[in-house]
Amino acid sequence: MRRRTCPCSSNQPAALCCGKYHRGLPAPNPEALMRSRFSAYARGLVDYVIDTTLPESPQAKPERASWRRELLAYCKATDFVELRVLHTEWEPGQSEGFVTFKATLIQDRQPFSFTERSRFELKTLPGQKGDPRWYYAEGEELEEGV
Ligand SMILES: [Zn+2]
Repeated sequence: MRRRTCPCSSNQPAALCCGKYHRGLPAPNPEALMRSRFSAYARGLVDYVIDTTLPESPQAKPERASWRRELLAYCKATDFVELRVLHTEWEPGQSEGFVTFKATLIQDRQPFSFTERSRFELKTLPGQKGDPRWYYAEGEELEEGV
């Protein structure tokens, strides 16, 4: 059987890369969370995408069921071809970080790329057990051609 490499383009086996975060291990830094969210989109793990989005994020939807359906439809219609992490702004100890990345996707057989600078927060949400976790807060799309 062929060993599956991680969809986040790390060239590592999925189980040793983002898979461990999908199974519940907290992502230790903004880049790990960003990569694991890309992999989750690629694998249609929409609950992981939802659970790692801050509830107050502009991307968050008030209704989980319709948000799930929307994400599933998006994942089904999209091939997540490649991720390139261009830049990370975060130092250990900081509870906010930024990751700039370029994603290459295919929709309707048309490949396209976008570059985004995402903001992440280390937080304990109401009802959450254990240590604070990293969450996706929001993203800003940057000019093409990075
Ligand atoms: Zn990965």
